[in-house]
Amino acid sequence: MPTHRPSTTHADLGPAFFDVVAPATFPHHTLRHRNQRWAERVGLGALSDDDWIRHFGKFEPLPGSFERPLALRYHGHQFRTYNPELGDGRGFLFAQLHDLSDGRLLDLGTKGSGQTPWSRQGDGRLTLKGGVREVLATEMLEALGVETSKSFSLIETGESLWRGDEPSPTRSSVLVRLSHSHIRIGTFQRFAYDRQNDAIERLLAHTVQHYLPEASRATVRETAAAFLETVTKRVARMGAQWMAAGFVHGVLNTDNINVTGESFDYGPWRFLPVLDPAFTAAYFDESGLYAFGRQPETLLWNLVRLAECLLPLSDQAALESALDAFQPELQREFAARTLHRLGLLSAGDDEDRSLALAMWRFLADSKVPFEQAWFDLRGGRSSNPLYEPLRATLAKFAPRSDVDHDYFRRDTPCTMLIDEVEAIWAPIAADDDWSRFDAKLRDIAVMRDAYT
Ligand code: AMP
Ligand code: MG
Ligand code: MG
Repeated sequence: MPTHRPSTTHADLGPAFFDVVAPATFPHHTLRHRNQRWAERVGLGALSDDDWIRHFGKFEPLPGSFERPLALRYHGHQFRTYNPELGDGRGFLFAQLHDLSDGRLLDLGTKGSGQTPWSRQGDGRLTLKGGVREVLATEMLEALGVETSKSFSLIETGESLWRGDEPSPTRSSVLVRLSHSHIRIGTFQRFAYDRQNDAIERLLAHTVQHYLPEASRATVRETAAAFLETVTKRVARMGAQWMAAGFVHGVLNTDNINVTGESFDYGPWRFLPVLDPAFTAAYFDESGLYAFGRQPETLLWNLVRLAECLLPLSDQAALESALDAFQPELQREFAARTLHRLGLLSAGDDEDRSLALAMWRFLADSKVPFEQAWFDLRGGRSSNPLYEPLRATLAKFAPRSDVDHDYFRRDTPCTMLIDEVEAIWAPIAADDDWSRFDAKLRDIAVMRDAYT
């Protein structure tokens, strides 16, 4: 039985980067979701449920991990307004460990684990519905091929929470997220705001060494530009993956953008019912700043903020040229993900691009339900005359042999529209009936397996 390979690397950054905190104590712990697939990948698959709750509900340290959790410090632009009062206000870095398959350093971070110096007026808690929504988002995105954090554990914690947008108290939970670092654009911003150039340099060296070694160069100056280019490409790919998944993250603040380009922090997210660039997820996004079609430009805006943080270590021309990597990488990945969703092999850059163009034009013009269109094109309904204009283009591409094409012959695709999320939550709230939640996770797993 493999065991986990712990690390305490984040502590090497030094005390300017975090605050040592204590977890909340909860009245009850009921295990609601245990990500056994990923538990096995990090060597924690053999934990009993009791031990699981001891570590991921009561936060007894894992062997070899931090003795006390670290609330991470960061700032961020929220809806383009700078906020220097941010930081882990309801979460902390609980442990670090390695992915046993590829060696990557991963974080086990929390959401809803209690107050910290960064809680401001907040209670440090996560609603059960918020936890359920994060599990559903991460499972769905992973199955659709998006680089995302994983929901490792969800435990209901037996408290009553009052939330402004709900008329009565609601149930509480604590989530543990498995993530490829929690170093955000906002982490760099905090030290740039305070003009702490040596801290930025240390953060840069740490991030490159542990997460982005391909950006390592002989000098700090060169490393800063190579780092920005690497982050730019990864964030561009993440944006393209969201678009191909029909996903609207909802809160693209700089504190929610991981420099590894892994998507994370799922609040008011939504999936598209039909292709609509103006579709927004968060009810409070009144101007549509973070609408579906504006996600790429928003990500680039955020990357410019990262570039500004690196100015003291590099020169403007080198940073500007690093940012130029955004558009080509976005376009390339967008075409690649379009093909991926259709289970087709690449036929070369130009062909791939023209398929992506044709597909997205079709989605825009036809207004066929978003998930249905991908599914129909590969499955039983592909003979529908609606799809005729695309057929000649599709015929140039060979099917991928690692995809189970029979999946597309089912009656309906796996979707995650807002009404379905509410229909999963309603029986949990009313009767503690988790059967719809379980059924959805099984359905997502079928889709995931079809693609891998
Ligand atoms: P988010 O919108 O989830 O990215 O959170 C923005 C900031 O608010 C972060 O610093 C969070 O830690 C903090 N925050 C959100 N909800 C709470 C809460 N219930 N209690 C304390 N801090 C919170
Ligand atoms: Mg956040
Ligand atoms: Mg398979």
